[in-house]
Amino acid sequence: MKKTCVMLTIATMLFTSLFTVIYLSASGGYDYSTALNYSIIFYDANKCGPEAGNDNFFSWRGACHTTDGSVRGLDLAGGFHDAGDHIKFGLPQAYSASVLGWALYEYKDVFDSTGNTDKLLSTLKHFTDYFLKCYPEPGTFYYQVSDGQIDHTYWGAPEEQTGPRPVPYVADESNPASDVLGLTSAALTKMYLNYKNIDADYANECLRVAKELYQMGKNNPGHYKLGAYYRSNSFWDDLAWAATWLYVAENDNSYLPEIDSYLSNNTFLGQTPFENKWTMCWDDMYMAVFCKMAELTGEQKYINAMNYNLDYWMNSLTTTPDGLRHLDVWGALRYASAEAMLAMLYYEQTGNESLKEFAKSQIDYALGDNKNNMSYLIGFGSNYPKHPHHRAANGYTYAGGENSNPAKHLLVGALVGGPDAQGNYVDDVNLFQHTEVAIDYNAGFVGALAAITKYYGNLTSPPPTSDPELLWYEVGDINLDGKIDTTDLVLMRRYILEIIDKLPYEDMDNLRIPIADVNGDGYINSTDYMLMRRYILEIITEFPVEYDIYGNIVN
Ligand code: ZN
Ligand code: CA
Repeated sequence: MKKTCVMLTIATMLFTSLFTVIYLSASGGYDYSTALNYSIIFYDANKCGPEAGNDNFFSWRGACHTTDGSVRGLDLAGGFHDAGDHIKFGLPQAYSASVLGWALYEYKDVFDSTGNTDKLLSTLKHFTDYFLKCYPEPGTFYYQVSDGQIDHTYWGAPEEQTGPRPVPYVADESNPASDVLGLTSAALTKMYLNYKNIDADYANECLRVAKELYQMGKNNPGHYKLGAYYRSNSFWDDLAWAATWLYVAENDNSYLPEIDSYLSNNTFLGQTPFENKWTMCWDDMYMAVFCKMAELTGEQKYINAMNYNLDYWMNSLTTTPDGLRHLDVWGALRYASAEAMLAMLYYEQTGNESLKEFAKSQIDYALGDNKNNMSYLIGFGSNYPKHPHHRAANGYTYAGGENSNPAKHLLVGALVGGPDAQGNYVDDVNLFQHTEVAIDYNAGFVGALAAITKYYGNLTSPPPTSDPELLWYEVGDINLDGKIDTTDLVLMRRYILEIIDKLPYEDMDNLRIPIADVNGDGYINSTDYMLMRRYILEIITEFPVEYDIYGNIVN
């Protein structure tokens, strides 16, 4: 029954959009397992350091910023660029690794069955290798490389960027940084948990450093230095989050009163953290703490805190007319995704179906169930942003405003910031509230997708193994053999006469050009056949249409 529905959908759509890859399934959802795979792949685009090009999905990425840290006589090469720029910020990196590691810890079976565990683990290790470098000696932790004033004047490939890469901030005895220390500690503890059966030595090193960073943050409580970006408002949440995971790893009850003492402090707004109207993000880990602690202890205060927050999100928070819970104009989708991950984890504890439906509605919104029928996950479906605010994928420079062209490279798996509170989205590289992508955006999204895949996904579809943007073929080369000749003409004829119902390239995920539509009118019919024939007889030397790599007509 399910299969029939899908085939009918395909037959109907052939007439309007011959080359659309059908992602909508018969059950009214999406191909979540592909979306999950893409959303992990995205991290390859932001890898930094001498090994950035190794095991990298994107052929256009390679080694960059290989001498980071040298200004302080340190090796701080590695880690991840933050967003569309090339700064390495401590807090969002720690957040991303912490949430991705949490997702793997809770949904390992889903990552296993979708073939995503190895990729996610190697991504996580790229994070934790860097965190370990940031802690060159006891009591000293570095948490930023480069800064906005220097980095943001450059638009171009990270591999070609030259100029200073300062290391502006350090946590030590006289400089507190309990926020970034707590979040990094939690990320390392989760790496210990996720990695101890793979490489016990490495896992134990992660745990050792996790404990020392936690002690540093606990013994010298305070915010990190307030730079111009990622201003941190709270650190008790991060200490509580670190202690929560050390409690999981070591099963030591002495962490519990420490967590209580952190949570007895009000937030920076003077409110009790137990009535939180925000969600999990790089600045606010309270909801993550409550979610895990509700599971670990079953204590009513954590259950109440979860209910308070989820009730607010589901029933009171600003919602776009087409259904997105809209917390903020900056990266609205990342917040809704993080809340969806929390809702799913809390669903695992409560079995409350409305939580699952809420989470699915927000993820479906991101994948195309919105008034623009747009997938905000790049490369997923047939209609997605073409102008992500991302220097490496963009491929141009500021010269002549060229960077406002559609990106040269397909930034597979990046979740863009998303629409405004009216659900409007503007695909413009300079409107970065809409089009920027970031390592923290994808983190909660990966977790939510893993959870949704568990209940609604097809757990057996194999992940793609190559870069979808790599394939480029000439219009008219229907059998993809590099020539346009009578073989292509015969294929086209058989297709038009309905002797065959599919052309060889139609199912190729990594080819978006409608090769047989040689006049670009959206149909394959006798007009195309006539043009093909004239081309092969050398009456004409080119076709009237040119496509870009996304299949859009450019000429
Ligand atoms: Zn780099
Ligand atoms: Ca915080």
